[in-house]
Amino acid sequence: MTALRELYQEVILDHNKSPRNYGRMENPDRKIDGYNPLCGDHFTLFVKLDGGIIKDISFDGAGCAISKASASVMSAAVKGKTIAEAEELFKQFHALVKGEIDASENLEELGRLAAFSGVSEYPARVKCATLAWHTLHTALTSTEYRTSTE
Ligand code: ZN
Repeated sequence: MTALRELYQEVILDHNKSPRNYGRMENPDRKIDGYNPLCGDHFTLFVKLDGGIIKDISFDGAGCAISKASASVMSAAVKGKTIAEAEELFKQFHALVKGEIDASENLEELGRLAAFSGVSEYPARVKCATLAWHTLHTALTSTEYRTSTE
């Protein structure tokens, strides 16, 4: 088994069993619904901002293992980051699951995000993996209430 495949299984299992930052938030600055109709993944993202920094983030909802693990990993990755840093991570993640960057050459930089590189082989799954990130993007760049992968 390759290191990436091992990482994939470990991250998906771990983050489904004990998702990070899971639950609703009182008085969030942004509350956005994200929906992936292809798979039925549906999450609500809660964000607290403080001077351009993601001070707190949480999510609830339900979806397949990939979408849930991705939401969990995303929340842990962007917590405490600036909006600009989070947007940069979103770009990297998007390129990763589209197969546009080689995860095995950027393992250190990507950390647990690299686990999702295998998704690039399954186009239908790319939307599951990116749902939470698209929802975050909407939360950070607009005051829109709802986002969808479609
Ligand atoms: Zn899904």
